[in-house]
Amino acid sequence: MNGYKPDRMPRALYIHVPFCLKKCHYCDFVSYPFKAGDAEAYLGALFREMRSYGSALSGEEKRISSLYIGGGTPTCLPAAGLSAILENAALHFNLLPGCEITVEANPGTVDPGGLRELKRAGFNRLSLGIQSFQDRLLRVLGRVHSAREAVCAARQAREAGFTNLNLDFIFGVPGQTSGDWLETLTKAVELFPEHIALYGLQLEAGTPLERSVAGGAVKACSEDLELSMYLTAIEFLAAHGYIHYEISNFARPGRQSVHNLGYWLNRPYLGLGPAAHSYLRGRRFHNYSSLKSYLEKVGLGEDPVEAGEHIPVGREMSETMFLGLRLIKGVDLGRFRRRFDRRAEVVYREEIARLEQNGLIKVAAGYLQLTKKGLPLANAVFREFV
Ligand code: SF4
Repeated sequence: MNGYKPDRMPRALYIHVPFCLKKCHYCDFVSYPFKAGDAEAYLGALFREMRSYGSALSGEEKRISSLYIGGGTPTCLPAAGLSAILENAALHFNLLPGCEITVEANPGTVDPGGLRELKRAGFNRLSLGIQSFQDRLLRVLGRVHSAREAVCAARQAREAGFTNLNLDFIFGVPGQTSGDWLETLTKAVELFPEHIALYGLQLEAGTPLERSVAGGAVKACSEDLELSMYLTAIEFLAAHGYIHYEISNFARPGRQSVHNLGYWLNRPYLGLGPAAHSYLRGRRFHNYSSLKSYLEKVGLGEDPVEAGEHIPVGREMSETMFLGLRLIKGVDLGRFRRRFDRRAEVVYREEIARLEQNGLIKVAAGYLQLTKKGLPLANAVFREFV
């Protein structure tokens, strides 16, 4: 491993805002009901955490090419609070020219004035969680907004000057038909977003939706229908000028998410705020999920990290493989060799041969990638590299 070279690319910075107006029925993310007092305490602690990393990290580690404020629902916070997060990020880190600065928004929590303020503050990408254009499915999901409000939010974002817009959607919702899905995709492209992310619904244990399905009150979408929705979306979005560049992500040319590409290329990132995960200096670690513990630790001037582990090079190689295979282009075999001084084709000779034999992966123009047959079976392919 003498020739091993850690990635020296600029970092991604993630900030977790752990508040939502109301918990969606399918959600198991870390989020708390929004309360103004908690939000104020959170912002104070976050700024302190930023300051502490600002003095602990090297100049190179503070070079940031993407900042992503996610949640929860960041737009639960007033626009002034989000602007203050961005100001502090610029104060303690080196946001490089052209830095992609995204904020996630729930269509039920935005208004024209707030969006204009976010744009003025320097946010240059907005990610709207629309999920569906059918009100009855939004009710199944327990979203706080209607389909009409989602369209309004996207239009208001454009009027506020956002020229880089991502829209998130969910397929495989109980009660969703192929017709609903096609209507959602049609309405999505009519808004001309630069980026579209599509997620198959995961029925997470213990969520109200999972309990309704388990109790028989609601019927889960069949696997066949879910797969057919996914394949329909790939075809439909390609026909409307979107490049399918990652399993769940589609973009107009040149509009891929810089931030998420960093994750798929297994590059370092720093996560701040409760429950945020980081990958830095060869370690993966995460902050306390409990807001109370996070606030207490930061308040005492201590590190709010709950747990972490060193990632040995063997594991870094394996992660680089299965994260990179999420990209439709695949794993760049030349880049792998330069990073690890080893050839992926040699390290994973048996796994690659087996998967190639089954027609699930192939090598094309220096990339190892999923085949059409392998795409819907991606999780089984990834397991081969774990
Ligand atoms: S808005 Fe997002 S984070 Fe909040 S409850 Fe709904 S799915 Fe979860």
